[in-house]
Formats: sequence, C-alpha cells, structure tokens
Amino acid sequence: MTRIKLYDTTLRDGAQSEDVAFTLDDKLRLVEELDACGLAYIEGGWPGSNPRDEEFFARVRKLKLRYARVAAFGSTRRANLAAADDLNLRQLLKAETAVVTIVGKTWDLHVRDDLRITKQANLDVIGDSVAYLKQRVDEVVFDAEHFFDGFRADPAYALECLRTAAAAGADVLVLCDTRGGSLPEQIRTGLQAASGTGAAALGIHCHNDCELAVANSLAAIAAGATQIQGTVNGLGERCGNANLCSVIPNLQLKLGLECVTPEQLKKLAHLSRTVYELANIEPYKRQAYVGASAFAHKGGLHVAAVQKNSETYEHIDPELVGNRQRVLVSDLSGRSSVVYKAKQFGIDMDTANPAVKAVIDRVKELESVGFQYEGAEASFELLMREALHGKVRHFRLIAFRVSDEKINENELPLSEATVMIEAPDGSTAHTVARGNGPLNALDGALRKALMPFYPQLAALELRDYKVRVLGSGGEGTEATVRVLIESADETSQWGTVGVSPNVIDASWMALVDSFEYKLYKDEKAPRVAEPGGAARNTSS
Ligand SMILES: [Zn+2]
Repeated sequence: MTRIKLYDTTLRDGAQSEDVAFTLDDKLRLVEELDACGLAYIEGGWPGSNPRDEEFFARVRKLKLRYARVAAFGSTRRANLAAADDLNLRQLLKAETAVVTIVGKTWDLHVRDDLRITKQANLDVIGDSVAYLKQRVDEVVFDAEHFFDGFRADPAYALECLRTAAAAGADVLVLCDTRGGSLPEQIRTGLQAASGTGAAALGIHCHNDCELAVANSLAAIAAGATQIQGTVNGLGERCGNANLCSVIPNLQLKLGLECVTPEQLKKLAHLSRTVYELANIEPYKRQAYVGASAFAHKGGLHVAAVQKNSETYEHIDPELVGNRQRVLVSDLSGRSSVVYKAKQFGIDMDTANPAVKAVIDRVKELESVGFQYEGAEASFELLMREALHGKVRHFRLIAFRVSDEKINENELPLSEATVMIEAPDGSTAHTVARGNGPLNALDGALRKALMPFYPQLAALELRDYKVRVLGSGGEGTEATVRVLIESADETSQWGTVGVSPNVIDASWMALVDSFEYKLYKDEKAPRVAEPGGAARNTSS
C-alpha cells in the first residue's frame, strides 16, 4: 500500500491565520520540530512575498533535516510573460529547495473574473509554469486552487487544468477546497474524476469553513489521495486548514495507515503546544487528541470507571499521542477522584481514609462559595496536604495595604503595596513595593519580605492572571470574584485560586497559594507530572 505523505503548511497557510505571526527564529525552530515528528514535507513560505521568507530559505538550507523536504510556495507565471521572465518563478528557484509548490487556477469563474484571460491562456500558464520548474527542481507540486468549486461549475475545464499540469510533469496534483465549502461526498467525487487525468499522484488541501476539513481529507484518502496538506492545530486563513493533530492520529490509529513512527506520534501533543506557544495563542483545551481536556474526566462515575479500565471512557490510550489522562476535582467528584489525585501528588491514600471524606467535604464547601480547582490544582494539592497534616505554612500574614494613585488623566495609575508578615524565624518583616497594578505590587512586596529566607522564590514567575466575576446577588459591584493565577519556575507550571467579594483579597489568596506551592514543591521529592495539571512540566 502507498504510504500517505504528510505535507505541513503551518508556516505558510497557517501563518495566514488571524492573530498569528511567526518570527524567523520561530519558523526555523518549527521546521526542526516538524521534522522530528516525521512530516514528509514542510512548506516554508512564499519567497517572493517578503524579505523574511527569503532569509528563511537561506537559513533553512543549513539545517540538517532527517525526514522532511522543504518546499517553497508560489503561484503560476503571469499571463503575459514567458516563464523564464517571471519574477515570481525566478524567486522560487532562488530558494533552492528540492520541492516547489505552485498554485494555479482551475475554476472558470476565477479565470474569467480574476485573471481576465481566456480559458486556453490559463491552460498555457499552468503547462508552461510546471514544465519550466520541473526542468529545474526535483519535485513539483501543483496546487489546483478551488478545484472542487471549479469541478462543480465546469467539470470538463477543471479536469483539463489537471491534465495539463500532469502532462507538464507535476509530481503531485493537489486538489484544493480553497473556500472550505465542500462536503465529504463532493470530495470523493472530485477525487474519482481526477484519477483519470494522468496524475502521478493526488493530494488534498482542505479548509475548515464547514468544520469538515479533517473529514474531507480522510474522504480524499479513501478515494485514492496519497498526500494530505494541513497545519498544526488547524491554523490557517478564516476558519483554518485541516488539522494535522487530528489527521495524523486518525490515519494512523483509526485507519491503520502508518505515516509516522509510533515514537514520532508520541510527540504530537508537544508539537501542538509548541505551535500555540510560538503563535502566542492560548491552547484550545477541547482539541481532539492533543488538548488538555481530551482525556480529562470529571464525573464521579467516569473517574471510578477509568481507574478500573481506561477504555471505558477513552477511545485511545492518550500516551500514543503524547497526551495524559487527567482527573478533574470538583463537587461532582467522588472518593475515587481524590484518591487518584493523591496518588499523582505522591500521597498514598485509600478510599477508606477519613482524610478523603474531609477533602471532599472541604472541596464541596469551597466550591459552593465559588472556588474551582480545575485550573488550580496547586491550590487543591495544598488543601489536600492540609487535610492530611494540618496547616503547614511558611509565613503568616499580619496585614497588607494596597493603594492606587492616578496623578493625571493621561497616565496609568500606579499601585503601591505594604505587606507585614511573620517570617519563619518569628520576626516581623515589613516591606513595600510599587507595581503597575495591585497584584504586581503585592507580589513585589511579598517577595521582598520572603526572599531573605527563601532565595528560590527568585525563580517564581507569575504568567497569567484571570479575574472572573461570579453571579452577583443583586448589585453588580457586590459580586464574588474568583482569581486564577498561573505561575511557573524553570521546571514546572501551576495554577492557584482565590475567591472573595474583594478582588484584591481574592488575588492575595491566589498569590499566597502560589508562593506556598513553590516552597512546598521545592521541599518534596520529584513526582509524576501531569500536562495541564498542578505540576505540568513545561518541557514535556
Ligand atoms: Zn489553503
């Protein structure tokens, strides 16, 4: 059976996503990550479009890639020029890649209204461009833009375009659902028709405007395509491209079509997180296969069942794609969730332990006033530790004061915090710090007070701060506020929570838990890390 070839276009089509911009260094790093994941092709960009892409191709040549071939992307020649005189084609060659992908028109509407040339002239454009490139590079991929729309509008002409590209020597004809409006059945019909055009191989390039890009890509594979183009996390124009993080495990684990090795498949969750991080986008929790919630269990019955046999509520073993099972703690949890969590935190406990009931009762009580531990597993771990061993704190608050000062209309206010604590040696530490907001100022003052005793706090970093107003009992300003803080040091990342009618008080609670957790974590032995959890290891 022909091996399915994965073609990544995260760096080109993916970079055309709203809110996404990769730096040159990001792109080079992603090339190495994609190569390590076993992608067959990596489309690096459009050399003619901007200087950064030209520089990219110069630098990517120096990387030692094991699996992937880098492709340069561009369009067919302009209608009124010979291929050799076309600046765009010349720049594609200057990128010196083994593979060049060019996009050409196959929909008569585009030929008439966009290019404004005759149908024959467009066939000449396709044929000349492919033939010119094929004489100069190893592999030429022809992206048949709007093929499925073109095939519906004028099937004979759309197929004639494919025939022309195949005859000129294109190695792969990629049928593009550029507007993303097709259904799986239409993809199948298009593929079947295209198989009679003399194409050496067929590929598929789907957009997700009907939430069908992955389904359509699989339909194309079933109808004979051997190359799938897509992006990591489905980034791309409008609603995005086919998501390779779903395409790959579907091919490999559901259809038994091996396209990467099992070891490479295990890197998928990491690849997904890396792309989110470089794109500076919050990872989508509910993403199939690789999302933090993809194997997270919350209902008590589910938790009890997956502990007996994970197949009860998991369609695959999460480790196959580098993900992990998670158990969420909430007021829906039963004893088994608490025991499961305790085990993860390195605490041995069985369901008969009275501390388990104490933890559940405490969680239920705290959740009833607005606490939530799903994004704050460090606070939960501290709570569990307290249920078992009583309160063990590294410092005690005596008082704090926060003030905001705005000195004129055009400047942001400045916050100042004074903190008084009882230090571990029994002395009183009294410190003050300024910041761009109350949390920032409190963080500064608390650090100043504790650093002489705990220098390891220098590595603690507050990454994210979320304030959520919970259902108010009438007056909006009297509502309860929940604050979630995401913190990190060089080895892990953790979340803490605070709830109060007062936003500064809620922030203080979450801040204190973050400091306490850092100190507690550094004291205890290493334990199992969990993605999305209290001790998520940022490098895994
Ligand atoms: Zn596209």
